[in-house]
Amino acid sequence: MTTAVATAPEIRLEDADAGLLIDLVGLSREELVQQMAAIGEPAFRAKQLWHWIYHRGVTDFDAMTTIAKPLRARLAERFAVRRPQVSNVQLSEDGTRKWLLRFGDGNEAESVHIPEEDRGALCISSQVGCTLTCKFCHTGTQKLVRNLAAGEIVGQLMIARDTIGEWPSPADARMISNVVMMGMGEPLLNYDNVAKAIRIMMDGEGIALSKRRITLSTAGVVPMIERCGAELGVNLAISLHAVRDDIRDEIVPINRKYPIAELLQACRTYPTSNNARRITFEYVMLKGVNDSDADAHALVAMLRGIPAKVNLIPFNPWPGAPFECSSNNRIRAFAQIVNDGGYSSPVRTPRGRDILAACGQLKSASEKVRASQRGAAVPAA
Ligand code: SAH
Repeated sequence: MTTAVATAPEIRLEDADAGLLIDLVGLSREELVQQMAAIGEPAFRAKQLWHWIYHRGVTDFDAMTTIAKPLRARLAERFAVRRPQVSNVQLSEDGTRKWLLRFGDGNEAESVHIPEEDRGALCISSQVGCTLTCKFCHTGTQKLVRNLAAGEIVGQLMIARDTIGEWPSPADARMISNVVMMGMGEPLLNYDNVAKAIRIMMDGEGIALSKRRITLSTAGVVPMIERCGAELGVNLAISLHAVRDDIRDEIVPINRKYPIAELLQACRTYPTSNNARRITFEYVMLKGVNDSDADAHALVAMLRGIPAKVNLIPFNPWPGAPFECSSNNRIRAFAQIVNDGGYSSPVRTPRGRDILAACGQLKSASEKVRASQRGAAVPAA
């Protein structure tokens, strides 16, 4: 089930000698210091670069005015500050914006900005495609899968900030105030790159997003949940979707490997459950599959002892999907039972459905290697 998947090539010190520019986006602080040391520059230089790249959003060394001109030229000979290429941008009638991004090897993934009045969430992908094949999820039907590199993950946030004009990092209100790892892919199956990207986002001298504003969603890669809590401490969301193993085995097949009881045990020991923060349980409403009153009562019973809230997600249809969304009345009745059981149970308002940007609708065409389009410029909308 957890098939090994490819990842983007590592950046090595020798790349510069081979005449390849090294992308600085996605390097950890320590790696940036090492790259500076390789050209005889002090650690302080890495700190200056970090500020320009992640606080100011600058991509051109020439704009880095605290660095002497001759050094800027030397940096540009060896390094680059890259962004994924924007293949397409779609804007929903509700303000939701979806980017289709193309990476260096031609593979593509999507990210989505969901704006609210004075803030907004950016939904970020962790893989091209996904290996988990959850039955109700469009991404699961995509054949080609590869892990995204740390720079490709944090690059999604940087593109969104370029578009929205959110540089330098604002101290207070931001239109990208929250990041949710809820795009394409299973973040805990690409843990190292996801963790590296999240650490870059949390770094106080750059993008400076608090761990309280970052949520990682998993379908239940149980052994990685503890590590995620201990090392990153971000908010946790669990794609639960069923209260019985026989049903969850079918619709979220990773359940066959890590059944519900083990998943809930990992949630009980997740560090955020010791304080005011709660774990979000996502529950997609599928007509006649998981939406009965009995299911709702069972859900309340099984969450006992876990500081939790339940996020009910109306099923978002996609072409050929084998499910229907529960009726509004059914969703309301289900929510009422969960709420009466002591758990907040908001129904997630679908956003961006008209541009297939809502939960579970993301899918890029990377499965068909679009050789014909590789060379052709695709206009950014
Ligand atoms: N792999 C991770 C990250 C993806 S998050 C995870 O499973 O948590 C995407 C969320 O949208 C998950 O909760 C997923 O189960 C849900 N989802 C997938 N397809 C959906 C659909 N068609 N309608 C509504 N929600 C869906």
